[in-house]
Amino acid sequence: MQVPPFSLSKQISDLSADLERAVLSVLQSGQYIGGAQIQQFEAAFAAAAGVDFAVGCNSGTDALILALRALGVGAGDEVITCSFSFFATAEAISAIGATPVFVDVDPSTYLIDLDQIEAVITPRSKALIPVHLFGRPVDMTRCMSIATTHNLKVVEDCAQATGASWNGQSVGSFGDVGCFSFFPTKNLGAAGDGGAVITNDAALAQTMRELAVHGMPKRYLHTALGYNSRLDAIQAAVLNVKLPKLADWIHNRSSIATRYLERLTALPGIVLPHGDNGHSWNQFVVRVRSCPNAPPLPSASGASHGRAESHCRDWLKQALQDAGVSTIIYYPIPIHRQPAYAHLGYGEGTFPVTERLCSEVLSLPIFPELTATQQDQVVTALEKLLSQDPSVNNVNQDRMVA
Ligand SMILES: *Cc1c(COP(=O)(O)O)cnc(C)c1O
Repeated sequence: MQVPPFSLSKQISDLSADLERAVLSVLQSGQYIGGAQIQQFEAAFAAAAGVDFAVGCNSGTDALILALRALGVGAGDEVITCSFSFFATAEAISAIGATPVFVDVDPSTYLIDLDQIEAVITPRSKALIPVHLFGRPVDMTRCMSIATTHNLKVVEDCAQATGASWNGQSVGSFGDVGCFSFFPTKNLGAAGDGGAVITNDAALAQTMRELAVHGMPKRYLHTALGYNSRLDAIQAAVLNVKLPKLADWIHNRSSIATRYLERLTALPGIVLPHGDNGHSWNQFVVRVRSCPNAPPLPSASGASHGRAESHCRDWLKQALQDAGVSTIIYYPIPIHRQPAYAHLGYGEGTFPVTERLCSEVLSLPIFPELTATQQDQVVTALEKLLSQDPSVNNVNQDRMVA
């Protein structure tokens, strides 16, 4: 049986009675936009994050757009973030007319390198978007101190980090606004698109709420050019069933990550992620550094630079697939090298850590319902593919002695 990188089937069958009741009750209520399910979810989500306000919206991407708009970021402004993220982080900055300014990531955390921020600050820098990538929290103590010193607004991209915390405090509650996604593969997934912004600032919450409904504080009075970006009542009903399970799911993710860390620690050729406190393990990402068991590239001259860089990772991904283990690459191309951002002029080599990660990272299967048997299959396949064959080593040693 193929081990999937992610699966919802057990979660949905476990919750099917509650989900069916919740969705059907929305259908029968006739209230599909707004209403009690939305209010209930917003209150519960804010409480879970320890903040005063949560506002549902259409997606994590829209959450970022609403946050930046509400903070007054716009044309001519610069927003600092990292290029090792999902494309939407930068896309949201561009969508509101501002310019993304990238820095590299830290080679040990894969998160925005806070040491590089000050060097790119200009008079036009308006905001900073730390990304809690893969569910791992950015050091928000340092991040906020840099932002305060330089008068930058902070929008936390928590799309992959629902349930993560820094020093025991929920991500998203440090900056001016925290942005969440309920895309189905995230830690708290809806049955479709969904998102939310959280904040402790009542005026900001109100502005984001209005922007999400056509800039409309009162029916048919439009005070800003906004969006149609609401969380649907059916999605809120699904999320209301799932939110109470989130803590258990994060606990399961964390146990799975701990088992991977224990069992893969001695394997050569891969670098494992760190298991910090507060990590919510949306992804378990290894770096593939060497592959003595892989056949060499067909011809060094014929291979493009990119392929040679990612040779071991690409080989391991295919070999795992053949051994019944499906994996995913988050992300193969850094944002600053995407064709859509060619006009920003970031050449190859601008962010060496990010570029290297993009050719080495591989996400192993992780989701709360992954079974011990499935995880054994992943570990066994990796051991087989990465262990140096002892007979090969003996031959080499004999030769050396001779
Ligand atoms: C998923 C994701 C988003 C966008 O969320 P959507 O709900 O898909 O719009 C933004 N940033 C990061 C880091 C993400 O992983």
